[in-house]
Parts: sequence; C-alpha cells; structure tokens
Amino acid sequence: MEAVVEVEGLEKVYGGGFFAKPTAALAGISFKIQKGELMGLLGPNGAGKTTTVKVLVGLVTPTKGSARLFGRSAFETDARRKLGYLPERAAPPEYLTGYECLDREGRLHDMAREERKKASARLLERVRLPDAVAKRRVGTFSKGERGRLGLACALVADPDAILLDEPTDGLDPVGRREVRELLVELKKEGKAILLNSHLLSEAELCCDHVAILSRGELKASGKTDELLASGTRVLAVRTVPKASDEDLAQIAKVSKAARREGEGLIIELAQESDVDKLVDLVRSRGLSLRELVARRASLEEFFLEKIGDAASSPPGGST
Ligand code: ATP
Repeated sequence: MEAVVEVEGLEKVYGGGFFAKPTAALAGISFKIQKGELMGLLGPNGAGKTTTVKVLVGLVTPTKGSARLFGRSAFETDARRKLGYLPERAAPPEYLTGYECLDREGRLHDMAREERKKASARLLERVRLPDAVAKRRVGTFSKGERGRLGLACALVADPDAILLDEPTDGLDPVGRREVRELLVELKKEGKAILLNSHLLSEAELCCDHVAILSRGELKASGKTDELLASGTRVLAVRTVPKASDEDLAQIAKVSKAARREGEGLIIELAQESDVDKLVDLVRSRGLSLRELVARRASLEEFFLEKIGDAASSPPGGST
C-alpha cells in the first residue's frame, strides 16, 4: 500500500550565510504514515519536528532527501490539496471572527459558499467551540478557544493527510482529552495523521505509531505497542524482610537501575532473561519474594532511554 505521508533520507541544514553558522536540523530521517494511522513525532526542543512538518507542507526546502504526500512530491501544489496543517502556535488573525477565519480557510481551498457554511457548522461542533464564541473576534478568544479554532481551520477541506504541530498547546486537561478523542475519530475515518508533540503521556494515549527524533536523527520508530514491548522491562518487587541498602546495591549490579518505592523496589532489567538472575540473587541474600510484577516501560521511560543525554540543545550545531 502506498503511504499517504512519506519522508526518505530527509536532511536539512539551515543558514550558513556570511553571519550565520549552519545548523543541521535533520540528518537523514525516513518514515511513512499509512491511511488510518496516527503517528506521534516526538522529540525534545530543537529535535527537528517542526522542520519536518514544514518540509511536508512545502515551507522549507530540504537539503537532501524526499518528502512525499499521496505518492507525489510534497512540493507539487496538487499533492497538498488534501492536506490539513495546524502550525505551531497558530495565530488566526485577531480582527476576524471565528466564522470568518473558517470561511477564509474554505475560500483558500476553493470551496463554494454553501459548502463552507456547512463545513464551519460541522467543525465547530467537532472541536466543541460554541457558536456564540465563534461569532466573536479572535482577539477576544481564550488560548484554548484559539487552539480549537486552529484545529477546525486545519480540517476545513476534509483533508486525508493531517499534520498537527503541538495541537494541544494551551488546552486544559479536558480540552486535551477532547482533542485526543477527535484525533482517534479522524484516524478511524481513514485519515493519515502526524502529531508533533513533546507531551509523551498524551502521545502514548492516542498514537498507534511513534517516531522519536533527537538532534535531527530518528532514534526509534514503529508501532507504539511493539516499541514499548521491546523496551526496558520494569519489575516491581516486594521482599520480606525489607531489602537492606546492601541488598539494593547487589540487585543494582544485575539490573539496569533499581530504586526503592514504598515498601518495595522498582527494578529495570535490560532483558527478560535477567528475571531469573534477579530471583536467584534475591533468594541467595535470604530474602523471600512476596510480589513480583512486570510492568511495560512507559513511553516516557522508552523515550528517555532512546534520546540518552540529548539535552534540549540544537542538533549537531554547526556542520
Ligand atoms: P521545538 O519542540 O522546540 O519546537 P523542534 O523539534 O520543532 O523544536 P525545529 O524547530 O525543527 O525543532 O528546529 C530544529 C533546529 O533547527 C533547531 O536547532 C533550530 O534552532 C534550527 N532552526 C529552525 N528553523 C531555523 C531557521 N529558519 N534558521 C536557522 N535555524 C533554524
């Protein structure tokens, strides 16, 4: 099946003029998003997430590699007809009303008047922006209301590929959940969605695929469930008597990390087969196991493991 969104060997070096040092924002990344997939592009600040999306909407020219939509180069205008895009910190014009913003978006997509009206009513309901708010100027909107309007604007032309750069920025927890639910609905309708985010718990709840970007490089990508299953094994262990500091130090030697939590220990193992070693050690130290529970690594644990010590600093700096 042909991917709806596809980047291959994408590289981007910014700047390099007389005054500016070149910045390698993307160092050859590849991924695909199929119909009905919601992929989270995750990474720390400056990882290259926005640059990737900007290449896909034709705002940034890559230094190398290709970006394709519906099998065509993202630089062909026609390839972008069924593309919806919500930029980071989208700022609809403050002097327009919510309805006028949606109408303007529809005009940009050559939609007829009736069609624009219908789309506005449908989308305002979908993003839960009340009619009374949409009638006001955007300048009077709360942050959350602006976010909802931005999302509605991205969906006006009923796009089949949707690129969202931090769509829940500024929304409260209820608003964030509503957006997640909307994204899952859109996915079920067969849309291909790219969600840029650094809210990992949120991505874990709604993205069936994730790609982890750090300093312009993809550190991991694939199905969320499979990636997490392959990640760190975490065990919760309770012993009697309670493990001493020396016990903990010995346990730390056969594990990747071990710490106390309440009455028990939380132990991270590099591989499943280390469970036996751990049990042997616990028994040889005269401790009795009362509880041993395997827990899947969270996306946050997996993410931190993959990006290692990549701080929120630019990817590679100068080239
Ligand atoms: P954030 O989560 O903070 O929004 P990001 O992952 O979206 O970050 P990008 O905005 O793609 O990251 O930036 C990647 C790198 O490219 C950063 O080091 C940034 O400073 C640099 N960069 C982005 N745009 C430009 C530009 N127009 N000129 C020079 N460097 C740029």
